[in-house]
Amino acid sequence: MKAVTTATAVMGLPLAMAEQVVAAAEKPDNRPPVIWLHFQECTGCSEALLRANHPGIAEVILELINLEYQETLMAGAGHQAEASLENAIKKYAGKYILIVEGSIPKLDNGVCCQIGGKTAMESFKHAAENAAYVINLGACACNGGIVAIEPNPTQAFGAPEFMPEGKPYINLPGCPPNPYNLLSVVLYLLTFGALPELDAQNRPLFAYGRLIHEHCERRPHFDAGRFVREFGSEEHKLGYCLYHMGCKGPETYANCSIIHFNDGAAWPIGTGCPCIGCTEGSVLFKNSLYSLATVAQPTPNANVPTASPEGLGQGATPTQTAFVGAAVGLAVGAGAVYAARLPKEPEDENK
Ligand code: SF4
Repeated sequence: MKAVTTATAVMGLPLAMAEQVVAAAEKPDNRPPVIWLHFQECTGCSEALLRANHPGIAEVILELINLEYQETLMAGAGHQAEASLENAIKKYAGKYILIVEGSIPKLDNGVCCQIGGKTAMESFKHAAENAAYVINLGACACNGGIVAIEPNPTQAFGAPEFMPEGKPYINLPGCPPNPYNLLSVVLYLLTFGALPELDAQNRPLFAYGRLIHEHCERRPHFDAGRFVREFGSEEHKLGYCLYHMGCKGPETYANCSIIHFNDGAAWPIGTGCPCIGCTEGSVLFKNSLYSLATVAQPTPNANVPTASPEGLGQGATPTQTAFVGAAVGLAVGAGAVYAARLPKEPEDENK
């Protein structure tokens, strides 16, 4: 119930639908067969899943899905593992979900990544052709990630580059991606038999529909012009905005600031580390880590002078005064709009 309620909330479905999702997850014959392939990556995406407790990895494997093949978790190895992969592909052809972790290299026909004598390109194409759906898990599987950074020595690409024509697939980028987003997609498939609504990059809108900057806990500091300029400084300790430390939250779409990692315990910006844009192929490692992000949404000027902790309560600069004046103006304006929408009081009949 806990897992399904969490996933229902993550998907943005009405709470009443939790019952439908629970019913789908409870049917023992409804557990989807899953084949999970690893290519060029660090296994961080699997590690993130192993760190989640609601549900724990045992519940996911034993109660929600039917995990047929996963190199990190399975006991078998060598020929035995290769045979079990082939058996699973044949037994569940057209019915299984294929989860891909890691990028796929093209250099010299893919010789840089071979498992069981087959290149990653061959293994992926074979497994994807027979899958019902493909989930590309993590930045590497979606767009090459860290492995594909220039000069990209293995000519690595994300799995979409090799996707069979017409195969339904979904991208869950991130480094690592949030395990609750994976769980939510699997439960959505179980409940509705289709992929959730996707954006232009095949990412589920429920998880990648809003900018991190829109719902970041440090946003009030951004709006007030309180920025960190040096790691370990007083401003850093006070939790000020990390924009000037290269935070890519203003151009990165993801829900990590809402659902956090490690069962809600932490997330990068919350621990004082700027967002690196790991869910955006066009942002991740494309510019220097300290380059300033493009602020896509109309926001207050990020270049206003820093309001230092020492300066608080000791008067304000003209820019700060103007900034506060604008904010008050906005608040008054918003209040007026709100008041105009209130139902009118009945007129006094004695007047
Ligand atoms: S710039 Fe980064 S730290 Fe600052 S409010 Fe936006 S997302 Fe949060």
